[in-house]
Amino acid sequence: MGKLINGKEFADNLCKKIATEVTKLKDKSIKPGLAVVRVGEDPASAVYVNMKAKKTEEVGMHSVTKILDENTSQEDLLKIVEELNKDDAINGILVQLPLPKQINEDAVINSINPDKDVDGFHAINTGRLWSNIDSLVPCTPLGCKMLLLNELKDLTGKKAIIVGRSNIVGKPMASLLIGENCTVTVAHSKTKDLEGEVKKSDIVVAAVGVPEMVKGSWIKPGATVIDVGINRIERDGKKKLVGDVEFIEAEKIAGAITPVPGGVGPMTIACLLHNTLIATCRRHNIEVPRLF
Ligand code: NDP
Repeated sequence: MGKLINGKEFADNLCKKIATEVTKLKDKSIKPGLAVVRVGEDPASAVYVNMKAKKTEEVGMHSVTKILDENTSQEDLLKIVEELNKDDAINGILVQLPLPKQINEDAVINSINPDKDVDGFHAINTGRLWSNIDSLVPCTPLGCKMLLLNELKDLTGKKAIIVGRSNIVGKPMASLLIGENCTVTVAHSKTKDLEGEVKKSDIVVAAVGVPEMVKGSWIKPGATVIDVGINRIERDGKKKLVGDVEFIEAEKIAGAITPVPGGVGPMTIACLLHNTLIATCRRHNIEVPRLF
């Protein structure tokens, strides 16, 4: 049986370290501030935004939540982002995705001041990440990297496969693993022989959005499996959350594996707070603490 990677415990510890750093900043009369903007009433977004606000307050940061009507125009949303860009009490800005159809997501993301872009989705932060320049790194892949380093200590020479090539998970994950000296394969819906590719890999990061698509029998014995997927399914008449990996079978073969829920999910919010702390320190020319 593979070891369970406890993302919840790791995230809780990270949040404690962040709270300690926030207390230290208080002595310098600095309070990190995070603003989260939600447009519309998507139920999953509402849950995520509430959780983000709660955790932000728990670590002692200033939290601002703006909830806008479903019919908000792009122009009005851009004005709100601009106000937050100028607001000195705000160090991090996150606009919850997805946005309603009338709004161009790229235009909004790229209107955020890159130094406050705690989601790390701005084109400048993407470029910095791929150029090895200090950047704000997308939260979910950053959380995956932390879990992998905690588990394996050194990733040098490992063969890693990332299943999924989205801008928010797959691509930044590839950059981070290249940075850790892995040999990286990025797979997607047009990949031929996905099973064969996964079978060769020491590290598997699944970010597909298809319930249990990566089969347990594809996993190389002893491999480390990070399951990013969050899929709500109904099984035997019950609602259930499952990942993108067939957990029950994969757990028998993997060396270590993240569960869903309780794996990558909690890391995403912890890394958002981590990024807000980094953005605050950089803004005030304070050395960024190393928390992992
Ligand atoms: P996207 O839908 O943006 O991307 C999915 C990727 O998977 C695409 O690159 C797509 O390929 C690829 N793909 C789809 N079907 C297949 C297939 N049959 N074989 C191989 N590749 C396939 O998803 P996200 O990256 O945004 O999210 C992925 C998952 O992670 C979702 O379940 C999401 O809910 C979860 N998630 C979890 C987070 C967390 O906090 N834990 C945060 C963000 C996401 P192609 O490009 O060719 O279409």
